[in-house]
Amino acid sequence: MSEVSCPRCGKSVAELQNLDPGIIAKLGEEGKGESLPSQVCASCYAQLAGSVARGSVLMMREKAKEQKRLMLWKSRVNLIKKARQCMNDKMFSDAAVAYEKYLRVLEVVFDAKPGDLSPEHFKDSARTQELTIVASVYWDLLRIYDTSERYGERQGQSAQKLANFLKFTPILPDIVRKAEVFLKTAKNPAMIKQFLKLANDDKGRCFIATAAFESNLAPEVRFLCQFRDQFLRKHLAGNIFIFLYYKFSPPIARILDKSPRLKPAVRGILRRIISFLAARQ
Ligand SMILES: [Zn+2]
Repeated sequence: MSEVSCPRCGKSVAELQNLDPGIIAKLGEEGKGESLPSQVCASCYAQLAGSVARGSVLMMREKAKEQKRLMLWKSRVNLIKKARQCMNDKMFSDAAVAYEKYLRVLEVVFDAKPGDLSPEHFKDSARTQELTIVASVYWDLLRIYDTSERYGERQGQSAQKLANFLKFTPILPDIVRKAEVFLKTAKNPAMIKQFLKLANDDKGRCFIATAAFESNLAPEVRFLCQFRDQFLRKHLAGNIFIFLYYKFSPPIARILDKSPRLKPAVRGILRRIISFLAARQ
């Protein structure tokens, strides 16, 4: 019996099998097309066919996962609506359940461990507006969990997260004012005080300035934050500016983080703005 050698692996075999053009095309798509011969030995055939099957299973799994994430992301709107309706109807424990579900949904969407949701998760997406919603959720939870000592731990977590998220939203001063009022009737005033301390410790982060100067303690960053709190927040145009700034600056900060070479130029622009502002004060 005459033997032929497989053009792919060089093994001597009795006969070669035709490689299905579908397999060649699939492997080509995945960049594994090599330069495949039209005929290979049985073991090469099995190997190539198996690799195609594994590839498409993985791709389907990835697609299904992505689809599930998208569905979950959409479902969050209804959870928020439901929670807010419950808040209006004073059904606070139902509201808490819906809010917690909403937070779980975000954790799954952003691949975060339970309780690990952070503003950073929203930085790398077009979803920064969600930060304000997340902050308002923690604000409601902080007050709901104030109703019983049983919820002490959860209230503590909500206080921490609220302070954390608020810094990235334009509702910071509003919530701080509301919390100061709430403090007077709170069952657990220590927790509200702790929140106020956290929130006032480090008021808002200037995304662009922090990315450009690589620290939110740089004097230039502090100046800009101060200017925002003392001047901009008091004027309507200023508030519109802050809103736009928080909407557009995370993507700009992201670009800066990816292209550090741009940083000196941005630092230069910010310094010029600062000296202009400082001269007018
Ligand atoms: Zn072979």
